[in-house]
This record gives sequence, C-alpha cells and structure tokens, in this order.
Amino acid sequence: MHFHTSPLLPILFFTLYLTSCAQPLPVQTEFVLGTVCTVNLYDRGSAKIYREIFTRLREIEDRMSANKEGTEVDEVNRNAGLAPVSVHPDVLAVTGAALYYAELSRGAFDPTIGSLVKLWNIGSDDARVPSALEIQSALPLVGYRDLVIDEKAGTLFLKRPGMRLDLGAIAKGYAADEVARIIKSHRIPRAMVDLGGNILAYGSKSGGAPWRIGVQDPVSERGNHIGILETINKTLVTSGVYERYLEADGKHWHHILNTKTGYPVENGLVSVTIVADHSIDADGLSTTVFALGYEAGRALVESIPGIDAIFINSDLEIRVSEGLRGKFRVSDERFRLIETD
Ligand code: ADP
Ligand code: MG
Repeated sequence: MHFHTSPLLPILFFTLYLTSCAQPLPVQTEFVLGTVCTVNLYDRGSAKIYREIFTRLREIEDRMSANKEGTEVDEVNRNAGLAPVSVHPDVLAVTGAALYYAELSRGAFDPTIGSLVKLWNIGSDDARVPSALEIQSALPLVGYRDLVIDEKAGTLFLKRPGMRLDLGAIAKGYAADEVARIIKSHRIPRAMVDLGGNILAYGSKSGGAPWRIGVQDPVSERGNHIGILETINKTLVTSGVYERYLEADGKHWHHILNTKTGYPVENGLVSVTIVADHSIDADGLSTTVFALGYEAGRALVESIPGIDAIFINSDLEIRVSEGLRGKFRVSDERFRLIETD
C-alpha cells in the first residue's frame, strides 16, 4: 500500500476551512410588516435561511397590508361595492380566521374596521382625532357580515362601497406561524421569533429548559418587562394601549377601536397577552379579548382549550387565566397579581 497525494485533497481542505469559518449568524433584524422583526435561529442561523424567512414576511406584507397600494387587500378595498377580487390562499386563510373571531365576539373584533382605522390613522404620521361627524359616517361601513369570502372561487368581496378590509389585528400572527413552518422545514430545533412584540418561542432552550419570556410593561412606552412566563413551544401576543397611540386633546388614544362607537375601546384594560400554540390564534384573540373587556374576554379564554391569557388593568392589577395559575411571576412591584378571582 502506498500513499499519493490526491489532487482533490487541497479542495477538500479548502472546503473544510470555509465551512469551519462560516460562523452561524445568530440573529437577524429587519423592518417588515410595519414593525421591527427579529428572528434568532441560534447556532443554526445562516444567511440563506434568514433570507427565506424575511422574503416570506415581505411577501405576506405585500399581500395583506391595508396601507400600501397594490396589495391584494388594497385591491379588495378598491373593489368594494363593485366586484369580488381573486386573492392568494394566504389572504383567504387570514380573512377566514378574522371572520371566525368576528363571529365569536359578535363583531367586537371586525376585520371590516378599515374605514375607521383609516380615519384615525393611529401609528402613522397623519394620526388625528376625527370629528364626531366623520366617525358617524364611517361607522355604517363596518360590518363583517358584508364581507363575502368564497373559498372555492378564491375571492373576497366587500358588498358596500367605502367598506375597507383591515387584517392588521391578525396578519402578524399568521406571519409568525409561517416563520415557524420554515424553521420546522429545516429541522432547526430552537428559535426565537419576535415580530414587533408578537413572540413565538420555538422548541426549548438547549438542554430542554423552558424559555423565559418577559411580558412587556403595558403602561410605559419603553418596554421593560413586568413579569416572566416560562414556556416551551408557545406563542405570546399582546394587545395594549401603548402599542400604537396618539396623544391629542390631552388624551391618550390607542389603536384598538370599539366597533360600536368608533372610538378607542375604554374598558379599564391596558393590555391583554394571549398564550397559545398558534400565533394566528394568539394575535386574533389578543385584539378580540381586549375589545371584549375583562369579564367577557376572560370567559371566552377559559372556554377555549389550549388558550391562556394575562390581563392587566389601569390599576396595575394582573389577572391570569386558570391555566397560568402559579406560572406567572411578577417582577415589577408596581403591579399586583390578583389570584382571588
Ligand atoms: P398590533 O398591531 O400592535 O400588534 P393588534 O394585534 O391588537 O396590535 O391589532 C391592532 C390593529 O387591529 C389596529 O391597528 C387596527 O388595524 C386593527 N383593529 C383595531 N380595532 C379593531 C377591531 N375592533 N377589530 C379588528 N381589528 C381592529
Ligand atoms: Mg392582535
């Protein structure tokens, strides 16, 4: 037996050298879906997979944004009162889920809230308090029963002119679930996905330990957390008064609107965090439960298996659903955990 140097050997070494130098990219942050999105794939992070994820997020934004021209939702809105519009299965799926939460809340959650949302424009530079007259004329344009979804034809139709579809309360949840699907397809064991505060904790920490997720301070702009929840493979989505808001006329106007009055919901809640397996449910329910208020919202949460919630009111009292009893730890002494009801 004798040795000779293979001409392939230098190539082999060069390849090994390259792969050992290709450090994992541990975290990627981009502005998409109208917010700051961060995905952390830990030691499995690579430019290629991050690109796949953020390309998918942009695709979802380009189909579903109500504020951009040329999206499918924009097309549906332009054709309100005129004709059904063919949309991608992504848009059908999210609209179907939105209609489900509209039924469940009897319209407290309503994806046809768009004409009111546009009047207020909260979260944009043009935000303002509309006149009472403007609100009165926009209110009749809200009504999910006049949003027709035809799954077979793949179309959406707003029956009355001036109606506007707005999927802003639920699209980020769908997007987070899509990120999870991509992560799974690459057999990546753990990841942390944060789409502007919509958290999806994929898998567990290395060694199987649970993630420690901070629940954000609902009454200050800059997000310190006020408590910690330990979870494995769950998503946490918060709707609150400091997500997007407008200060005007000496008042704080937040962005979740009462579909009956046209003004921001006022029911004493400052935030609702939903814990669920699927982010589309957590996102849909965070807005739904916030709009319903504590009593009806809590009853709804307790009635759905696998769904939990953390409610915080303006007296800085925290209440948790049955499934989170003893599991949520408050880390900020201004807040009190009420465990008697
Ligand atoms: P964020 O967008 O900050 O994550 P939410 O998930 O709670 O917060 O969604 C709030 C958005 O939902 C608003 O900006 C608006 O586009 C839309 N919206 C407001 N009020 C309602 C409502 N009653 N039903 C459905 N969607 C709503
Ligand atoms: Mg929501």
